[in-house]
Amino acid sequence: MFSMRLSCFIKIIFYSVLTIFHNFTLADDKNLVSSISLSDPIKKMCTQLEIKFQDYQWGKPFCENFNWNHVRNSNLGTPLIWTVFGDENSETAKANTTLILCGVHGDEITPIKFCWDLMNELSANSTHKDKLIVIAPIVAPDSFLVPKPTRTNGRGVDVNRNFPTADWKTDAHKRWKQQLKSDKRKFPGHSSASEQETIFQMNLVLRYKPNKVISVHAPLTLLDYDGPSLRADDNKGAKLLLEQMSNKASGYKVSNYPIFPGSLGNWAGKEKHIPTYTLELPNSNPAETNQFWQLFKDAVIYAIEHKMNPTVD
Ligand SMILES: [Zn+2]
Repeated sequence: MFSMRLSCFIKIIFYSVLTIFHNFTLADDKNLVSSISLSDPIKKMCTQLEIKFQDYQWGKPFCENFNWNHVRNSNLGTPLIWTVFGDENSETAKANTTLILCGVHGDEITPIKFCWDLMNELSANSTHKDKLIVIAPIVAPDSFLVPKPTRTNGRGVDVNRNFPTADWKTDAHKRWKQQLKSDKRKFPGHSSASEQETIFQMNLVLRYKPNKVISVHAPLTLLDYDGPSLRADDNKGAKLLLEQMSNKASGYKVSNYPIFPGSLGNWAGKEKHIPTYTLELPNSNPAETNQFWQLFKDAVIYAIEHKMNPTVD
């Protein structure tokens, strides 16, 4: 009797250990799969990001937990990556697509953390199933992943002056020399769309056909709109979104900042007629990123939720 109980007890212990071991192995496999699916260039970039986040006291980026897409590299060979939230096969989701760009200028570091905070929010909250959110958190990595971040990309080009807008050929270099006194930080490139980071952004627009674009910069402390006229009846949605984004960020200043030859607002907003919102955060102080996230979280979530009329190209 006693030996039967003992053998039963041993069996229970044995199977319990087996189950724990089995579950542990499963959990381990999942981790293994997620780390194996990262390519070596992205793994390298994630390691660099971890160091940057540590330097700025932003905590861990958990970069390896996001589902990255990677098609092209910068001219210096750094991956240009993006991630998508929502079901890419759902027509309902595709009808409300928001493209969010951060890190266009690497020395504006707070926008990069802003995109990261947004990605963490979207990962933790699954209410985005009926919409698509396409996020490129570090558009110009070579300008950020260096000891001293720069505005221009790895080849000294301002990628927000490099889009192939209709006025680029005639005006980009002229305005750069005359108005900007050949400021190297705003060099538009030797030709339009010469930079991989520019082509990367263009391809995201062409691939996902977003009905709104939000580009996050710093430190001009304003919200700017480029796109179809806000006076037209058809664009009530774009106007409402601009007003609501400002309202939800404690009445953040809305300003009609001028467009430039080769800027995103000119190319996507004016020429492609996609409502394009530039959120200029107040500064690039890494210690203030939590305040910025708290200030603009509701505005950006509202923007993602807000469905616009399909854009006419
Ligand atoms: Zn900028």
